[in-house]
Amino acid sequence: MTDTALVGSHDDSDLTTWTAAELAEKIRDREVSSVEVTRAHLDRIRAVDADVHAFLHVGEDAAVAAAEQVDRDIASGTVASPLAGVPLALKDVFVTTDAPTTCASKILEGYMSPYDATVTKKLRAAGIPILGKTNMDEFAMGSSTENSAYGPTHNPWDLTRTAGGSGGGSAAALASGMAPLGIGTDTGGSIRQPAALTATVGVKPTYGTVSRYGLVACASSLDQGGPTGRTVLDTALLHEVIAGHDRFDATSSQRPVAPVVEAARQGASGDLTGVTVGVVKQLEEVRGLQAGVEESYRASLAQLERQGATVVEVDCPSFDYALNAYYLILPCEVSSNLARFDGMRYGQRRGDDGHHSADEVMAITRAEGFGPEVKRRIILGTYALSVGYYDAYYIKAQRVRNLIAQDFAKAFSRVDVLVSPVTPTTAFALGEKADDPLAMYLFDLCTLPLNLAGVCGMSVPGPLASDTGLPVGLQIMGPAHGDDRLYRVGAAYEAGRA
Ligand code: GLN
Repeated sequence: MTDTALVGSHDDSDLTTWTAAELAEKIRDREVSSVEVTRAHLDRIRAVDADVHAFLHVGEDAAVAAAEQVDRDIASGTVASPLAGVPLALKDVFVTTDAPTTCASKILEGYMSPYDATVTKKLRAAGIPILGKTNMDEFAMGSSTENSAYGPTHNPWDLTRTAGGSGGGSAAALASGMAPLGIGTDTGGSIRQPAALTATVGVKPTYGTVSRYGLVACASSLDQGGPTGRTVLDTALLHEVIAGHDRFDATSSQRPVAPVVEAARQGASGDLTGVTVGVVKQLEEVRGLQAGVEESYRASLAQLERQGATVVEVDCPSFDYALNAYYLILPCEVSSNLARFDGMRYGQRRGDDGHHSADEVMAITRAEGFGPEVKRRIILGTYALSVGYYDAYYIKAQRVRNLIAQDFAKAFSRVDVLVSPVTPTTAFALGEKADDPLAMYLFDLCTLPLNLAGVCGMSVPGPLASDTGLPVGLQIMGPAHGDDRLYRVGAAYEAGRA
């Protein structure tokens, strides 16, 4: 099924090969109904998800009911949203009232939220049927979706390999035609990295531009929801649906959403004249860069130049410390955010048999409910925040974070966007890094710096690696609130590859 699982070129008779923009147009023109489109994807899920395991929950009835409503609204002329009727796969970290939200953790098994996340609400308001909730690393900690308590997602390009993490489920759903659109979260790379390993598009928007209300927190100062798709334009259309100020999120930006759809349309001409692209020296020299990834990346740079861009090298010396800073700051925030899962406030209570104290019940609940990676990070974070170590670790890491932000600011005073590989290698085999947390962390080297700085980034498919034949992503990075630049350059690059 390796080949058949992949979405080929547009085939009129197969709705699962259409782009979201094409589907939206046909639905609007009533050439096809949202119910037909939604059912085609549900059929596809039924046919291939036993092998891929992209979904933790499929909401067939809810998706069809939402599609029926959109079809009625379109018939009566009351729908204006540009993606109305196009179904989507939602990462199981956004709360939904009509489906369980588990964050792929046993501790939240069967948890039903009493409210919808702002992102969920926006999707519903835009007439986007939610097909289901997708697999992820537990509480979004990981780079392979192997930390899911419900079993890993398999990469549709090669089922023995990972689809990346933590949002491997949504990326695999896109790559195998189970959904034309997806929503992920990116704390250190969880949108961009699975996109790179599956030849799909993923964007981590500027911090604060997509509401975190109802997004179960991993590390609040880094978490950011974002759109995924199979084309840059589809991703832009979804970006505009989910972005915008939200008074329920204290860190939500008041600035108007960058004009990403306009930028994607402009970029489609393929002309990059006048655009300066910076290549980050430190991200080209990352440890363990696979020859096939480097070759693909060099070909991408040459293509950008052919399209008119000026390519210059930039130096971001503090990026060398990004991994260290991230893997201190993130566990610190995790140790505090995940304190609420104690069987009292949240989480499936265990050990409440009349023989244990409240403290013991909380300890048993957490010991049984959390997987090893989540425990590792809670312990690390608690240690780093403890008296005596706080200054040595946490404060120091925050200083590094400032230096990284300064490196970005300096770079963006010279260039419009920065580029780098997304991952050091193509998709690795399931199990390959499972027993080696450090090797797993090193896979995030290229994606973490921009989360620490709060800026934005995209992964767009580049040429396949010639040594493994697997997808490689090109990372495009933009300044805070310069998300439109990602789409302009990403769409141009995509057009240039065609
Ligand atoms: N792989 C990174 C981590 O494990 C990033 C995860 C994410 O972006 N949610 O923390």
